[in-house]
Amino acid sequence: MRGGGGISKKVIVLDTSAFLMGYNPLSIEEEQFAVNAVASELSFEDAASTRFRMAVDVGKVKLRDPSTKSVKKVEEVSKRLGDSLSLSEVDRGVLALALELKESGFTPFIVSDDYAVQNVADQLGIGYSSLSNFGIRYRFQWILVCPACHRRYPPTFSQKECSICGTILKRRVQRKIQAKGRI
Ligand SMILES: [Zn+2]
Repeated sequence: MRGGGGISKKVIVLDTSAFLMGYNPLSIEEEQFAVNAVASELSFEDAASTRFRMAVDVGKVKLRDPSTKSVKKVEEVSKRLGDSLSLSEVDRGVLALALELKESGFTPFIVSDDYAVQNVADQLGIGYSSLSNFGIRYRFQWILVCPACHRRYPPTFSQKECSICGTILKRRVQRKIQAKGRI
């Protein structure tokens, strides 16, 4: 756990990876937030999608979308750091939401195993925590998929659009394996 401190109220902001890795919002006391778009990255993953929906339904996770202004600020910082290509639209939303919560007096920390998200959070003065701190130890890999023609691209692919049909690529989980032994 990084950052935080002071007397303001600690809140948790969750990204897609948290739900994919089995993070359970129902077991956490702090107020928790996520952005609406997390649902779109989870739509292909039944268990994670159910966990997300259930936590939202019972009010354990509040959905809130950040302003365009906050998203722009996150984009500026991530460009400076060279992380803008590895951040998905959802990641930028998660970071922008955490930034807004910080500006309204909370002490947010982001639960994410995504290095780019952690890196930008650090730069914004926002704390973060990786999933291993919650006893969750999985590894996973993203790939890029064209939602129109279903062509797949490696995560290192540098274009934002499909080179066949020009549709904006979406990020998907390629595989998820439970880590054995040390990570
Ligand atoms: Zn395509």
